[in-house]
Amino acid sequence: MKRSLLIKPMMDEDYPTAVRAEGIYIYDEHGKKYLDGSSGAVTASLGHAVTEIIEAVHEQSKEVSFVYRSQFTTIPAEQLAQKLNTLINAKENYWSFFVNSGSEAAETAMKIAIQHFQEQGKTQKNKILSRWISYHGITIGALSMSGHVKRRERFVPLLEDYPSISAPYCYQCPFHKTFPDCQLACASELETAIKRIGAQHIAAFIAEPIVGAAGGVIVPPEGYYQQIRKICDRYNILFIADEVMTGLGRTGKMFALNHWDVLPDIMTLGKGLSAGYTPIAATLASDKVMKPILQGTKSIMSGHTFSANPQSTAVALAVLNYIEKENLVEKVESQGAILLQKLHVLAKGFPMIGDIRGKGLLIGVEFTSESHGSLTQKIVTTAREKGLLLYPASAGRDGFEGDAIIISPPFTITEKEINQLIKLFSDTLHEVQ
Ligand code: PLP
Repeated sequence: MKRSLLIKPMMDEDYPTAVRAEGIYIYDEHGKKYLDGSSGAVTASLGHAVTEIIEAVHEQSKEVSFVYRSQFTTIPAEQLAQKLNTLINAKENYWSFFVNSGSEAAETAMKIAIQHFQEQGKTQKNKILSRWISYHGITIGALSMSGHVKRRERFVPLLEDYPSISAPYCYQCPFHKTFPDCQLACASELETAIKRIGAQHIAAFIAEPIVGAAGGVIVPPEGYYQQIRKICDRYNILFIADEVMTGLGRTGKMFALNHWDVLPDIMTLGKGLSAGYTPIAATLASDKVMKPILQGTKSIMSGHTFSANPQSTAVALAVLNYIEKENLVEKVESQGAILLQKLHVLAKGFPMIGDIRGKGLLIGVEFTSESHGSLTQKIVTTAREKGLLLYPASAGRDGFEGDAIIISPPFTITEKEINQLIKLFSDTLHEVQ
């Protein structure tokens, strides 16, 4: 092959060339087989080369492959919006705005929240509160709301100075407390921040229901989101749930917030929405959020050339139908429990493992602080050499280098394949320890 002119994540690294993928495996040009233990970036949730999904792209492209959103709507886009509303299953309707990436979905969520208050004449209510140890996307607006030190540091002068609170991070509690004696100090911090800044200046609070890339799967303590919901309501602040990584079955429920019976005002989806077959993401907003906009400007001041692309919406619809048809949400719950239990057994032999946590097939392994942030990359590289793909979750916050990996295989993984994953992970840990 000619010298590569492709800009890759690390320019001094040799990346294998993927030439084929099937089920939970990807094959490179030399025929080497990789077990996709992370579904790429927690994306390929159905595994690779699922016939129904491939056919959905093909069939749609024969009908209409592209129309522009200000000129036409399409059948798959309308059906997808209906389907997502049905899946949320709330008293209110949720409206969908389709974009191409999780970052765009976060930007759109931010704009819808601000516009919701602008339409009511509350133009000062325009800040978005967020949390440290969080990731909502790489574009400037999304990054402004993200508490991910490494991804922010070069661009800080360009970012909005949005206020942040601590993450509900029990393993290394920012308040040095223990649940339940802590009385959810991390949730109460939201109210303290709102009082300090003034609710009249805050449009929304954004959070990943379970923190992904920035913290290696941080599951909040019981009662956290119920309290967050109450605080947001008390101060007329919209709650944005970033379900880009956690949504659509990944955690063993259709949406991660279902674990706590909480509904957001705005939700973002991405990654698993297309299971990686085409780019698509979505911002969903409830009737309550949409009402002043529908009565006012009647338009969301955002949009992209490829918004609601017919092929992508057809794929997303096929993905959601496939998840239902194959009972994959239930499967995620059962396979996730098996994987978690096997990881706990494995961890007994490796003192470098500090914490294992997760829900469904979204599992984080955090290494002890003695590793000083050095292990993640070594483990990801060694695992890839052995034929196992893992997702690095080294975040870094004030004075702390997060050192974790995410294990998040496709929903279709069998127990035999879980055993293979555990064996490859064990061999990797033996080599790096
Ligand atoms: N939100 C969350 C929770 C994510 O994990 C990510 C990506 O990792 C994003 C948003 C951004 O999505 P994208 O990379 O598709 O822009």
